[in-house]
Amino acid sequence: MTISENRLSSPTAETIGKFVAIVGDKNALREPDEQAPYLTEWRDRYEGKTPLVLRPATVAEVSAILKLANETKTAIVPQGGNTGLVGGQIPNKEGTEIVLSLTRMNRIRSVDPQEFSITVDAGVTLAEIRKAADDVDRLFPLSLASEGSCQVGGNLATNAGGVHVLAYGSARQLSLGLEVVLANGDVWSGLRKLKKDNTGFDLKHLFIGSEGTLGIITGAVLQLYPKPAHSLTAFAGLPDLDAALDFFEHARSKLGPALTAFELLPRIGLDFVIRNMEGARDPLEAHYPWYVLIEHSGPEKEEDAIGIIESLLEISIGENIIKDAVIAQSQSQSLALWNLRDRMSEAQKPEGGSIKHDVSVPIALIPEFIARAAPVVESIIPGARPVPFGHFGDGNIHYNVSQPRDMSKDEFLANWEKLNEAIYALVTSLNGSISAEHGIGQMKQDLMARTKSPEELTLMRAIKASLDPNGILNPGKLL
Ligand SMILES: Cc1cc2nc3c(=O)[nH]c(=O)nc-3n(C[C@H](O)[C@H](O)[C@H](O)COP(=O)(O)OP(=O)(O)OC[C@H]3O[C@@H](n4cnc5c(N)ncnc54)[C@H](O)[C@@H]3O)c2cc1C
Repeated sequence: MTISENRLSSPTAETIGKFVAIVGDKNALREPDEQAPYLTEWRDRYEGKTPLVLRPATVAEVSAILKLANETKTAIVPQGGNTGLVGGQIPNKEGTEIVLSLTRMNRIRSVDPQEFSITVDAGVTLAEIRKAADDVDRLFPLSLASEGSCQVGGNLATNAGGVHVLAYGSARQLSLGLEVVLANGDVWSGLRKLKKDNTGFDLKHLFIGSEGTLGIITGAVLQLYPKPAHSLTAFAGLPDLDAALDFFEHARSKLGPALTAFELLPRIGLDFVIRNMEGARDPLEAHYPWYVLIEHSGPEKEEDAIGIIESLLEISIGENIIKDAVIAQSQSQSLALWNLRDRMSEAQKPEGGSIKHDVSVPIALIPEFIARAAPVVESIIPGARPVPFGHFGDGNIHYNVSQPRDMSKDEFLANWEKLNEAIYALVTSLNGSISAEHGIGQMKQDLMARTKSPEELTLMRAIKASLDPNGILNPGKLL
């Protein structure tokens, strides 16, 4: 079975007219300035062209669009908040693919605090969902630095991770049911609220993480959690990277499920944030090579929780695992500490080009990975500045490399593939993953054959061919 992109055709003027009629003139964008925000992405790495950006408002409109696309063999690129980092939401450069934006499908359908669930349209932003949960004294724990813009449909399509996977899991673990429009326009309504349902294949998992290649997610039922009575943030300076592993072991054993984040920051990353981001400042007096930000949250009163976290920090200082630490004393101090972590990507922009790797390795191998990656970088681009940071507690490191100070951005970025190749080879040799949370999109598609076994790829292609035989959904991405 093959997925035949060559069966696709560029939409004719007549077909375009039919697409426009489905959503109405106002929501079919044809002018370059109206289309521009949908055609480039956050890192300016991918730029596409399109005859049309469609902005449907209902499931029926999405269904009609896909039915027509399937009949006319027109490629459709689903797009949420356009914060994806691997180019999955951007159409091709030839201008033959239509962008379908979910932005207008932004209704919270219902919130059920008793059942700990929320049912939403796919175009609701993550920040709005978190707020709606908070308003009824509940927590939706998925949290990303992009949450003001990214949409839950995009979160599910990419199986987004973020800072709380350690405690609550990724988007996959937080979803109870989905509503999906299939390639032929049929609507699968799987908006179930059941935690237990062993009645054969759990179809929602096919669509979660499928990056818009198997169907368009239009609605979801999500799992809510009790809102923690307290949430404490602490920031610790470490003597070396091995200490991060010891500190993680201590923190996890002592805090159990109340350890809701464990994030790693290198000194160079902190320097970038302090230098380039307004208002950021060093939280500790002395400088250390590595830092860890931890979050402790749960049902206890804050006074009790402070005792627990102080004891963890004291023991760890006593054992020379951490050198110094601070506990945020207020909401604003906590935000200031989180800001150092959240702005780490953004702070790299003023430093010039940055070559990125979103990878994971078994947690125990993180120090080895980072230690072995540094000479690899130096041998390919002498003077380049590695900035490894991220979700240590999930084994997920954003191994970003900033350009040498005295090199031009273009000269540096010309090494992108070569450096990727070397870092991914190291990650693979450590039994890690070349995409921990951002997905495959267009960026890593060529690496799939190296990452998945032939059997896995055959299965994936068979599923794609069966759900989307004409290959209209997000061609050229993922597979
Ligand atoms: C500053 C910043 C921080 C980030 N931090 C994290 C992080 O910590 N963890 C993490 O996992 N990601 C992170 N990301 C990446 C990004 O925010 C996530 O991948 C997010 O889930 C994408 O959501 P979106 O709505 O923007 O999707 P888009 O970018 O619009 O689309 C992403 C993919 O999903 C598909 N898609 C979108 N909506 C639908 C739908 N309704 N149905 C079917 N397919 C769809 C698209 O075709 C595309 O393949 C970050 C990005 C930025 C810019």
